[in-house]
Amino acid sequence: MSADLRERRLRGLRPMVGRTPLVSVRLRYRGREGRVHAKAEYLNLTGSIKDRMALHICQTAIEQGALGPDHTIVEATSGNTGIAFAALGAALGQPVVIFMPDWMSEERKAVIRSFGADIRLVSREAGGFLGSIANAETLGRELGRVFLPRQFDNQANIHAHATTTGPELVAQLARLGLTPGAFVAGVGTGGTVMGVAEAFSRLGIRAHVHPLEPAESPTLSTGHKVGRHRIQGVSDEFIPGILRLDSLAPVIQVNDGDAILMAQKLARELGLGVGISSGANLLGAIQVAERAEWRTPVATIFCDDNKKYLSTDLAKAEPVRSGFMSPDVELLDFETTPAAGESRV
Ligand code: PMP
Repeated sequence: MSADLRERRLRGLRPMVGRTPLVSVRLRYRGREGRVHAKAEYLNLTGSIKDRMALHICQTAIEQGALGPDHTIVEATSGNTGIAFAALGAALGQPVVIFMPDWMSEERKAVIRSFGADIRLVSREAGGFLGSIANAETLGRELGRVFLPRQFDNQANIHAHATTTGPELVAQLARLGLTPGAFVAGVGTGGTVMGVAEAFSRLGIRAHVHPLEPAESPTLSTGHKVGRHRIQGVSDEFIPGILRLDSLAPVIQVNDGDAILMAQKLARELGLGVGISSGANLLGAIQVAERAEWRTPVATIFCDDNKKYLSTDLAKAEPVRSGFMSPDVELLDFETTPAAGESRV
């Protein structure tokens, strides 16, 4: 594909990534009424927050000459990044190879294939997530003309959120007359939390940025892979290279069953069909808001939608266990603040 055509394709993609609406969910939790604000990231090009990072990384790499027209994009992912790069690769005429743990949802695999990408599944025995990363590196060395986005170590991942997600959130809250007091988000690569934290600090906002992890698999708290969990897209078995836990507020934990129940409730009661990590994020934000006695605006992310989870426990009856928060969350209403201006990805 010619440089001109690639540039035209990038221009065509930009308005479809970022500038997502802010959904302010009004709820009652254990007798207190309050609001949590969430960026509706499922409205991006391929339906997840990862489109911001993938488009920004492709754009930067093209500008710097690291992603030539004949390069193959090779990445390890728990799904959404693979979907994002598969779509961008198709639009930009680049072949894409995706390494992914084989336990991720069937929908993820089918969507990646639908964009014509080559998907290679890695079992637990073959190394799971870390095996996927090692395979991507090996293929990169073998193939030659390859571009490795390396989302877990690439500062451009943080930059995508520092220049778009964070500033959009601050501007949208400002239109509601609010300044963020805290932000909570599940950590996959950590790009979202690190980028939003960077945006806050650049804008002079002293807000607590809390990483979130599944209670069943507290990798951030323990420093290594522990247990298994069902919140696909977060806690990928190791601490990512771009995550600086010492620069962030304390880690928040949410049970995966509770996250499933919360996501189901958002779909059934408000028509917000979100994925499991979005349910976890809302519960994490409620924990933080409750601790602050609902006195400070707390924001989070609805990372993707529920369509990639129809073959998973999200579409099944989930048992309520003691200690769960979601049965005590009464969803009342929501208000939406659109984003202003052009996409800056
Ligand atoms: N939720 C889902 C569904 C995801 O796919 C991801 C990205 N892996 C995240 C949350 C976490 O985002 P980040 O990589 O920016 O930490």
